[in-house]
This record gives sequence, structure tokens and C-alpha cells, in this order.
Amino acid sequence: MSAPIAPETRVIARPVAEGEKQSLLGLTRDALRKALIAIGTPERQAKMRASQLWSWIYQKGVQDFAEMTNLAKPFREALGAHFTVARPEIVTLQISQDGTRKYLLRIAGGLEVEAVYIPDENRGTLCISSQVGCTLNCSFCHTGTQKLVRNLSAGEIVAQVMVARDDLDEWPVDGTPREGRRRITNVVLMGMGEPLYNFENVRDAMNIVMDNEGISISRRRITLSTSGVVPEIIRAGEEIGCLLAISFHATTNEIRDTLVPINKKWNIEKLLETLKAYPRLSNSERITFEYVMLKDVNDSDDDARRLVRLISGIPAKINLIPFNPWPGSPYERSSWGRIEAFAEIVNEAGYASPVRTPRGEDIMAACGQLKSASEKQRKSALKKAASHD
Ligand code: SAH
Ligand code: SF4
Repeated sequence: MSAPIAPETRVIARPVAEGEKQSLLGLTRDALRKALIAIGTPERQAKMRASQLWSWIYQKGVQDFAEMTNLAKPFREALGAHFTVARPEIVTLQISQDGTRKYLLRIAGGLEVEAVYIPDENRGTLCISSQVGCTLNCSFCHTGTQKLVRNLSAGEIVAQVMVARDDLDEWPVDGTPREGRRRITNVVLMGMGEPLYNFENVRDAMNIVMDNEGISISRRRITLSTSGVVPEIIRAGEEIGCLLAISFHATTNEIRDTLVPINKKWNIEKLLETLKAYPRLSNSERITFEYVMLKDVNDSDDDARRLVRLISGIPAKINLIPFNPWPGSPYERSSWGRIEAFAEIVNEAGYASPVRTPRGEDIMAACGQLKSASEKQRKSALKKAASHD
């Protein structure tokens, strides 16, 4: 069970191969400026050009340099010769009966990654992935059965938001959202992978998503979910500043060791101690404790009482997630009666305890059900990568 854990698993995103156009997606403003200088843009102009490009890419969602009409034609041509702002291809788009949309995207190397859009009455949440597969193997998670193939680049992370915006036709026209409303109001890093094992790329991507002159989704509408990579938690608060969700799932180390094996490295006590120091923690910016409800494993009244004792002193809400089964999964979902009883104990202790309605189950898009790329494709991609070494 013991998964190899960072740093040796921090696979660097695939470098750009010779002769391949460099993607501008995911570059920080400064990296974008440097990329422009590298193709001959005079240094004194580079900052302004980078700013103009930024707005075309992230505010207007333009996919072709030729449409960037306030840039001189020769400059647009130079951009087109060296760079690309193309999105990953949508291999399949599945739409659930409840309106949930699951995108299967093909990224470089023939790999695949999933993102899910979940519409609600007053909000629309896009759930994005940070890795192809995951190095951790939480026993109740489908993604965990897929080995890590690689980290996503910042561009591949931000591109998931852009692809969904393309599909939902929500790029603003003349700076105003279409129909006066946004469709993607919230972003959650709860898809495939452990975001804090791909820290820099997740940070750079989220800084682009939050940028006021870009996609402009507030940091308070972005939630990063981690299984508990303790050494990176405070840094996430400082360098990303988004809301935090913790995959807690158990109230004793014994059970958490089996459900979330990273607990063997950083146990409940170490995790809670770190959470108390999370920057800006307050009643308006509470930590979400995710708790998957597994029949007869972690769902007793005693568990509920232990849970509220453990987190006392931390501004928190508890998100109860009915277990979503997948083929061959070793657990069952707790009964609704059990989930309600558990929620009530938590609620009476003064914590909000919403139960997460499973969404998109008919298309395997619910929490923990994501698992992309058939083994066959994955193996052939790996073989190909190996033959290039
Ligand atoms: N790796 C990160 C983020 C992705 S998982 C993390 O573990 O936090 C997003 C959430 O879905 C986590 O809380 C995870 O524990 C939960 N989850 C995983 N598998 C699940 C399943 N089969 N049913 C319900 N929730 C699940
Ligand atoms: Fe990885 Fe999160 Fe799934 Fe655990 S729950 S295996 S950390 S994706």
C-alpha cells in the first residue's frame, strides 16, 4: 500500500520538443514577456505586448493570433510561427441527465485528463485535474487506482478552464459576460491528482485564473482539495491564497492510515496543527473538511463526535460526501439515514454539514470516479515517451 511519495515522484511536466511550437498558455506574465523577447520583441516593448496578448488570451479567449487586431501583422505572424494558444482537444464531452458535463481532454503525449462542469441554480462549478493519475492510493478513490503518469503543466491546468469556457460559450463580449452572468463561478481542484504534489504548476495556473485582467475568478471562489500534504499547505495559503479543503475521511489514525495512506507520513495531529496556521483562516474563509461516507467504516455516531472534537478551534465546515462506487470498489455508501444522523451530530456541534449531492453519476463524473486513458493508451504513451529518452 505504501505509495512512493515526493520528492522523487515530482515528475516534471513534459518539456517542449524541438521544432514544436511553444504553448503560451500557463506562462506567468513575466515568462510571457521573456518569451516575446526571445523571438526578437524589443525589450522596451515587451511588457506592453505581453499585456495585450494576455488580454486576448485570457479575457477574450481568442485562439488564433490573426484575430489579435491591435497587434501589427508582422508581429502576429511571428507569434504564429513560434507559439500556439491552442487548447487541448476535447476527445469526448458527456452530458449527464442532471446537466453535469464531463470533458475528456487529450493533452501532449497522447494522454488524457478529465474536467467536470457542475451547474447549480446560483452557481456553476468547474472541477479540474492537476495530474494524470495520482501517486497516492486512497483505497476508496478510482483515480488512486491509476498510477501517476505525469504532472500537468500550468498551461494544461488553465486550459481546462478555457476549454469549458469555450464549450459554455462564456467568453465575455466587450468585457461584459454574455447574458449578464457567468456560467463558471467557482473552480475546485478536486479532479484527478494531488494538487500539492504539483505545487508550482497549480499555483501559476490559479494565479492566471484569478488575474483581474484575465479569467478573473476570485480566490474565494477557488477551492484546492488536498489529501494532506502537510509541508505545502501553508505555502498554498501564502502563494495561491484560495480556499482549502482537506480530505479528512476518518477520525482515528488507524482508519485514516487505511483510507488515506498519506496519513502514515503526516498523521491527523500533524495535519490539524498545520491547518490551525493556515493564512487568513476565519469564519468567512473556513476550511472545508471532506468526509466520504463509507458504510460501517467511518460513519458511526462516535466518529461524528470524535470529528467535532478533533477540529474544535478551527473555523470549518464539514462536507459529507456519499461514497461514489466504481467498478471493483471495496466499499459501500452509507445509508441516507446514517448520513443524516451523522450530519445532525456535526450540525448540533455548530458546524455546517452539507451533504454533497452526487452529480453526474450516470457518466462516472462524480467525486472520485474520474479515471482517464485506458490502460492500453497509457502504456503505449509511456512506451513512446521511453523510446524518445
Ligand atoms: N487529491 C485531492 C483532490 C482530488 S479528490 C484530494 O484527495 O483531496 C477530490 C475529493 O473526492 C476528495 O475529498 C476525495 O477524497 C473524494 N473522493 C475520492 N474518491 C471518492 C469516491 N469514490 N466517492 C466520493 N468521494 C471521493
Ligand atoms: Fe489521489 Fe485524492 Fe484520489 Fe487520494 S483521493 S488517490 S489523493 S486523487
